[in-house]
Amino acid sequence: MERILSGIKPTGQLTLGNYIGALRHFKDFQDNGEVFIFIADLHALTLPIDPEVLRQNSRDIAAFYLASGLDPKKATIFLQSTVSAHSELNSIVQNYLYMGELSRMTQFKDKSAKMNDKEIGLGLFAYPVLMAADILLYDAKTVPVGEDQLQHIELARDLVHRFNHKYGDILVMPQGKVNKVGARIMSLSDPTKKMSKSDPKGDIFLKDDMKTIRKKIMSAVTDMEALVYYDPVNKPGVSNLLTIYAALNDITIEEAAKHFEGCTRYGDFKKEVADTVERELAPFKARYEEIIASGEYLDVLKEGAKKANAIANVTLKRVQNAVGLLTLE
Ligand code: AMP
Repeated sequence: MERILSGIKPTGQLTLGNYIGALRHFKDFQDNGEVFIFIADLHALTLPIDPEVLRQNSRDIAAFYLASGLDPKKATIFLQSTVSAHSELNSIVQNYLYMGELSRMTQFKDKSAKMNDKEIGLGLFAYPVLMAADILLYDAKTVPVGEDQLQHIELARDLVHRFNHKYGDILVMPQGKVNKVGARIMSLSDPTKKMSKSDPKGDIFLKDDMKTIRKKIMSAVTDMEALVYYDPVNKPGVSNLLTIYAALNDITIEEAAKHFEGCTRYGDFKKEVADTVERELAPFKARYEEIIASGEYLDVLKEGAKKANAIANVTLKRVQNAVGLLTLE
């Protein structure tokens, strides 16, 4: 069975962007493939983070995974830091990725540009190395992500080419998979920027209450034209709302635009978008609350760690053996 893997890092409040671009689709793979979904807690350490916040965010993501419909009987759900093979493979594959290519990564350039040179940790620079290790450990063929992560997956692919060229057919070639609709949800307050985890006005957080979420949608930045159609360059705000509407209704952008054809009041348009978001998120949030209250995610993570370790260690051995590390058994 084909292996599918993805992860989200517990750095802040999860957004509607994470939900539409990644989380919502993870469960789609669990009936036809072997799914591995993890909490990228080691990646969260690449930027300064309070320990208690990191712990809380990690619990939240575990609960969100379960609330999204991932079934722990079908999918392996785990914490990255509970599978030491991630760090061990990282320390091997780091020798096959180069400073030049790492310094060209958009995410590194964006994040480091906002920091003092003295504050930029090696982990931030080497972020894609650990991400490659995450993917390669599970022989994952498909990696569902939002658009911003494709560059990192391309790098992992380059690594596989390089490594296999040198050592033979050792690593499985992964492929990034983004959704046709919603691979890049934009901020509601500045629709030329990606919705990230940092702007309380423009980002819809999955933990916001429904009233706040509706309010954010109703005050989303649009334009003066009062016509609803898709044109991300000239109408980024309207196009973003159309994308959210289309993604959550599982229809194409064209179908969404057709639905709003002739609508001349942005208030009406936004209300329908808000209704769609509420229809999707209200039950999801209710499930999340139940899961957090019951603490059931803890057993899921423990069980997940066992399954993940067993599989990851097999790949790790294969790689250690290929590069010439002496094995004693
Ligand atoms: P992160 O929060 O950076 O760990 O991202 C987790 C997943 O959510 C990755 O697959 C991202 O590509 C995806 N993602 C994050 N922000 C967005 C966004 N604004 N639109 C679509 N996907 C996103």
